[in-house]
Amino acid sequence: MPCATDLGRALCVVTGASRGFGRAVAQQAARLVKPGSVLVLAARSGDELRALQAELSEPEAAAAGLKVETVVADVGQMEGLESIIRTSKAAFSEHVDHVMLVNNAASLGDVSRYAQSFTDMSEVDSYLSLNVSSSLCLTARVLQAFPQRPGLRRTVINITSLCALQPLCSWVLYCTGKAAREMMFRVLAEEEPDLRVLNYSPGPLDTAMQMEARSRTADPNIKKSFSDMFAQGQLLTCEASCTNMMKVLLEDSYTSGAHIDVYDV
Ligand code: NDP
Repeated sequence: MPCATDLGRALCVVTGASRGFGRAVAQQAARLVKPGSVLVLAARSGDELRALQAELSEPEAAAAGLKVETVVADVGQMEGLESIIRTSKAAFSEHVDHVMLVNNAASLGDVSRYAQSFTDMSEVDSYLSLNVSSSLCLTARVLQAFPQRPGLRRTVINITSLCALQPLCSWVLYCTGKAAREMMFRVLAEEEPDLRVLNYSPGPLDTAMQMEARSRTADPNIKKSFSDMFAQGQLLTCEASCTNMMKVLLEDSYTSGAHIDVYDV
C-alpha cells in the first residue's frame, strides 16, 4: 500500500504537549501537516507550551501556513476539556480535511505503594478521572464537535503502554488506568467504523515519567528493571518513538482499535 507523505490539512489536538512524548508529537505533526493546518496544544504548564508555540511558529512554519494554539488546561477538569473544545472549534475551518486527537496526557499515580494500601476511594477516583474519564469525555466532545462528513478523515490516538496488557507489582493505578483506557478506545473502534482509532504503545521513553518510575517504584524487582534499562541506555528518545507512530499513521494500514507497539513498527 502506498504510504502518504503528509497528514493532510489537519486540526491536530495534542494533550500533554508541554514535555515528553506529547511535545515530540507536536513537533513532528507540525512538519507533517499541510499548509492551512492547526495544532491545538494542551497542558497545565503555560510557559512550556508557549515556548513550544514560539518554536513551531518560527518564520518557515508561519510561511507554511501552520497555526499553533495553546490551551493551558487541566484535562482532569471539565473546564479544561471545555477550553480545548472552544479553542479547537474557533481554529477549525472548512478547509480542514483531517481531525486528529492525540490523547497523550497521563500520570503515573502513586507507585510507591501496593494495591492493598489503596483504601481511599477518592484517591483512586481522582486518578481514574484524569487518566480514564477525561480521555473518553474529550474524545466524545471532539467527535461531536467535528461530526463525520464526506471528505473529512477523523483519527483518534490513545497513547497506551505495555502496562495495559501486563500487570506490574506496585503499579495498580497505572496498569488499571491504561487497561481501561485502551478498552475504551477498542469499543469506540467497534462502534464507529468510519473512525481510525490507534492505541500506540511508545516503549520505555527517557522522560520525567520514566524518572519517576525508577525512583519511586515500591517493588524492588520492577524498580531494578527500570534502573537497569536507564543504566544500559535502553530508553528510547521521544523523537525516535514518535517517528514510528507517525509512520503507522502515514501508512494508515493498521486495524482500527489495534494496540501497536513501537517495537512492532
Ligand atoms: P511526562 O510525565 O513526561 O509528560 C506528561 C504530559 O502530560 C506533560 O505534558 C504534562 O503536562 C501532561 N499532563 C499531566 N497531567 C495533566 C493534566 N492534569 N492536565 C493536562 N496535562 C497533563 O510523560 P511521558 O511523556 O513519559 O508520557 C506520555 C504518554 O506516554 C503517557 O500517556 C504515558 O502514560 C505514556 N507512556 C510513557 C512511557 C514512558 O516510558 N515514559 C511508556 C509507555 C507509555 P503538564 O504537567 O504541563 O500539565
